[in-house]
Amino acid sequence: MLVDFHCHTTVSDGVYTPSEVVRLAAAAKISSLAITDHDAVSGCREAAAAIKREKLPLSLLQGVEFSIEAGEDEVHMLGLAIDDQEPRLVERLHAFSADRENRVYKILAKLEKLGYSLTPEEVFAAAGDGAQAVGRPHVAAALVKRGYFNYVYEVFDKLLYNNGPAYVSHLKPSLKEAIDLTHAAKGLAVIAHPYGISDQSVLEEAARLGIDAIEAYYPQHTPEQVKHYKAFARRHGLKVSGGSDFHGIKNKYPHKLGVYAISAELLNLW
Ligand code: AMP
Ligand code: FE
Ligand code: FE
Ligand code: ZN
Repeated sequence: MLVDFHCHTTVSDGVYTPSEVVRLAAAAKISSLAITDHDAVSGCREAAAAIKREKLPLSLLQGVEFSIEAGEDEVHMLGLAIDDQEPRLVERLHAFSADRENRVYKILAKLEKLGYSLTPEEVFAAAGDGAQAVGRPHVAAALVKRGYFNYVYEVFDKLLYNNGPAYVSHLKPSLKEAIDLTHAAKGLAVIAHPYGISDQSVLEEAARLGIDAIEAYYPQHTPEQVKHYKAFARRHGLKVSGGSDFHGIKNKYPHKLGVYAISAELLNLW
């Protein structure tokens, strides 16, 4: 049985709509899929409706990916199997996405000074209809569309990397708040792609604050890293999760859903 507990849709920075994503998952013989858009849960409803309507053989976990305020590193945390209607969670996610919208104008002001001219409309068009969480990938896509760059990754490498020349931060919960919001919504709090966290004390802190699981299986993890994070989970009494972080972006592995799916027996979330 194959599962994938991390993937994105057009509601944040994915290429495929929630309906398309669940169709792709079913076609790839994935039996359980979590939709985890950045700062937004609105894709979960559409995905659930598509599964029902088209009788797809797939179980859906409603999820979300939080960006965490935690020093220099980009720390992300997933809320898995959440109640997407939980009022406190819904309210905070609205605040995060509203702030993301404001941030677009701030990024554009920085870009203007750096000699790159772009309108907010071009960025919102790149994010597309139904996008709840506009972000750096959409700014990058708009710059590519304008012809300033050939690829999105070039924009990240030159301008938009963390604390780079056109970088602007956005409203983020602390790790504690993200864990609390997830637990209030009856979900599991999972540290996403831990290889990106250079400061190991962040992981120790997460364990102390009541994180439930760690995403040990992740496409960019080496076999040694998988082992390392499984051992970390064992030591701290955490569960083990895994996901592909599928966005459907051409130059970002995995570009196809299902090429990195995980055997359910390797995980122990429930
Ligand atoms: P944001 O949340 O708006 O700060 O944007 C961060 C997101 O950009 C990450 O979660 C990734 O999905 C995406 N990202 C980061 N680096 C790259 C890259 N080199 N190419 C494409 N997308 C990227
Ligand atoms: Fe993303
Ligand atoms: Fe992430
Ligand atoms: Zn992700």
